[in-house]
Amino acid sequence: MARLRTIRLARSVKPFLARGGPKGERCPGCRLVPSHCICGLRPEMPTNAGMCLLMADIEPLKPSNTGWLIADVVADTFAYGWARTEVAPELLTLLSDPQWQPYVVFPREFADDARVVHDIAHDTQKRPLFILLDGTWDEARKMFRKSPYLQNFPVLSLQPEQLSRYQLRRAQSAAHLCTAEVGALCLHLANEPQAAEALQAYFEVFTEHYLQAKQQLPVNLNNAVHLQLQTATRGA
Ligand SMILES: [Zn+2]
Repeated sequence: MARLRTIRLARSVKPFLARGGPKGERCPGCRLVPSHCICGLRPEMPTNAGMCLLMADIEPLKPSNTGWLIADVVADTFAYGWARTEVAPELLTLLSDPQWQPYVVFPREFADDARVVHDIAHDTQKRPLFILLDGTWDEARKMFRKSPYLQNFPVLSLQPEQLSRYQLRRAQSAAHLCTAEVGALCLHLANEPQAAEALQAYFEVFTEHYLQAKQQLPVNLNNAVHLQLQTATRGA
């Protein structure tokens, strides 16, 4: 499964990585400096849901991009660079695959009311495929408006009360959820609470390692965020 994911991601994102980027000083697995690598902590959770990341083209190069964390946890994660003038044929194939019910995750105020949903359909054999627009807010709005192939799918608008649970834990940026946290929320809606908790905990571990590395401080592998990740992945 891990190998499959690597191949899949390599195929879909390679043209972007090939442009350049940091060489040598980052772990290729987690994009952190080797002394703060989290690869050994990666939780792989079995999920029915899939994730489709559309990345504004600079995103794959940023070590701080958290969309990658979703790919680490959810085996069926697909990632594509977005461009206004072209679309990867593999993306169109994915979106038309009858096993999936795609949902575009985006705020309701930018979509026609008729498209907006607040939950996913549970009375179907189809697997939910959450399409996350990964970029700055301006980039995400552009992707939403200028991707005709997304326009027939429901728009999943996350409710403030669903968001608040996460905001409580992250008082420092209450208004903005990062991509990994949005992914965790989607897994909750898909009735996959264990995978959701694991992704959220993995994100918090990543954040801690990233910030400690920035300050050139060691990490404590037995502190609260690490224990939370262990608990979330127990029995998976
Ligand atoms: Zn690593």
